[in-house]
Amino acid sequence: MTKEELIGELVHDGYLKTPSIIDAFTYVDRVDFISEDMKRYTYTNEPLPIGFDQTISQPLTVAFMLELLSPKIGDVILDIGVGSGWQTALLAFIISREYGEEEHTPSVFGVERIHELFESARQNVEKYHYISRNIVLLKEGDGTTGFLEHAPYDKIVAAAAAPTIPQAWKDQLKIGGRIVAPVDESIVVLDKKGTMDFEEKRYFGFHFVPLISVN
Ligand code: SAH
Repeated sequence: MTKEELIGELVHDGYLKTPSIIDAFTYVDRVDFISEDMKRYTYTNEPLPIGFDQTISQPLTVAFMLELLSPKIGDVILDIGVGSGWQTALLAFIISREYGEEEHTPSVFGVERIHELFESARQNVEKYHYISRNIVLLKEGDGTTGFLEHAPYDKIVAAAAAPTIPQAWKDQLKIGGRIVAPVDESIVVLDKKGTMDFEEKRYFGFHFVPLISVN
């Protein structure tokens, strides 16, 4: 499959809908986030190994989660489990697509716990100058506790499944904000209506690597 065929299939099947997300899939090329030996599988709709028992997420899952997250220009977003950096760069494209050359502070924050993946994600995301342009800031560490220094966030998205949504993510979310995260084999959407008031929806039938906490 080519990139255009993969995107066409995701649109046809109803996973990709929003023009800015479709543009992100076109601009931020999955091939830039995959190792040499896996490149021939780049545009298959499958998760692919990125080493250390981790995978770059399946395009269908990334499309589905980004549509639920509904990122907008100006959103401050936390991305837990950066892995290859692909989804982080997609988010950076969506929230910065109308930025000019002006100075800004980062608005996509990513956390990755595996040192080698953190390093390669940094290189991959920088292929699009999102780090030097101060759009993305990546941190190595355990994302279970969120990223307090830059909270609160408009949106939080995770790529590794926890048994429940960590309290730190709920605390670090703005009121009116949304978390999209895997819990076991499902995707949970949590809308924050008030300090202690959350509305939850769940979508079943997905598979994720586990969220590993050191605590
Ligand atoms: N969206 C990424 C998905 C990578 S898989 C991509 O498409 O490349 C999920 C990632 O979550 C893995 O890289 C794994 O190391 C990371 N992860 C697991 N538990 C974590 C934790 N507690 N904190 C930060 N990252 C974690």
